[in-house]
Amino acid sequence: MEDLAINGGKPVFDKRIGYGHQYIDEADIQAVVDVLKSDFLTCGPKIEEAEKKLCDITGAKHAVLIANGTAALHAMIFAAGIGPGDEVITTPLTFAASANCALYCGARPVFADINPETYNIDPQSIEEKITDKTKAVVAVDFTGQAVEADKIRAICDKHNLIFIEDAAHSLGTKYNGKLVGSIADMTEFSFHPVKTCTAGEGGAITTNDDELYKRLVLFRTHGITRAQELMDKPAEGGWYYQQIDLGYNYRMTDMQAALLSSQLDKLEMFGKRRKELVRRYDEAFSAMPEIVVQKEIPESDTVRHLYIIQLNLDMLTCSRREIFEALQAEGVGVNVHYIPVYSFPYYQKLGYRMGECPKAEHLYERIISIPLYYSLTDAEQDKVIKAIEKVIAYYRR
Ligand SMILES: *Cc1c(COP(=O)(O)O)cnc(C)c1O
Repeated sequence: MEDLAINGGKPVFDKRIGYGHQYIDEADIQAVVDVLKSDFLTCGPKIEEAEKKLCDITGAKHAVLIANGTAALHAMIFAAGIGPGDEVITTPLTFAASANCALYCGARPVFADINPETYNIDPQSIEEKITDKTKAVVAVDFTGQAVEADKIRAICDKHNLIFIEDAAHSLGTKYNGKLVGSIADMTEFSFHPVKTCTAGEGGAITTNDDELYKRLVLFRTHGITRAQELMDKPAEGGWYYQQIDLGYNYRMTDMQAALLSSQLDKLEMFGKRRKELVRRYDEAFSAMPEIVVQKEIPESDTVRHLYIIQLNLDMLTCSRREIFEALQAEGVGVNVHYIPVYSFPYYQKLGYRMGECPKAEHLYERIISIPLYYSLTDAEQDKVIKAIEKVIAYYRR
């Protein structure tokens, strides 16, 4: 057996690779430089250009570019009119922002458990957590796989809830042939550098609803408007505007929007390669009973943002931590997505308790995210697989 790098052996990678990485080409760079030489660094034409591209891609009627995905979530909760006393149901297996957005508006996040095979929020658990205070569901397309949108839509319609989709992972994914972004009442995207397309930092909301759209746009700029139909009296002149709600400065710059617009031109290429890499991983791990891979629902045609291996701990002599650290030592950029949100001290102080979502907690103890990004080469991926085989062989029971 080969000596593990963690025990002083030769690592599979000389230089560690990340679990995610942006891909920037000359067109992206030129797009940003062009903005720097133009008249508008913010509030300029690149915002609308990227918004229009997002509408074309997703089939949504409206798109609102915003500072980041977290701001997009905050804006959606605001637009939905959610406030103190209200409850918002989401998954614990997500980035904290999916739940924090409810707290920003004074509402309480309520956690529904996951489906242990797909890792996405379980519609039945959503239904069990509904009370007369529930106002919305924030469903996360975890790793890029679409949530069971038909079931969630039916639950939301039955209980008069707003269906919000956190699609930070799922740009380019289709559900029943329809692109994510035009399915829920509002959908959020993130353009952080590890996501499928990047703006450096950035986010967007798509919606088909005209009223929600108006509130999202207000929220992005201080709650200020120049639209006469929104004012309570005629404008006093050409300079006039009114603040009619409490919003923020959540605008994106034109440099970011230009980068995003250029990145969106490559979405199909990015998605195709990610699918290919997922297929190659799936194939390699199908021969390894120590590793369980995420199941896909047939409705989801997925552009995967993350690739997660679930360890079958019964077949190993160690815990997830040893495998994680051994892979790191081999030079494989590993990560864990995610620590259940309600386990954090901040949430514990708010009264949340462990055991709330046992399936999510069970999964959390067994998962490791491994490298997945557009520019990962076949040779690099083969080395990732080799490192995993090497580490698993060492810890095999
Ligand atoms: C990245 C991410 C966000 C937040 O996006 P930012 O642009 O980093 O604010 C929200 N939800 C999920 C599931 C994410 O992965």
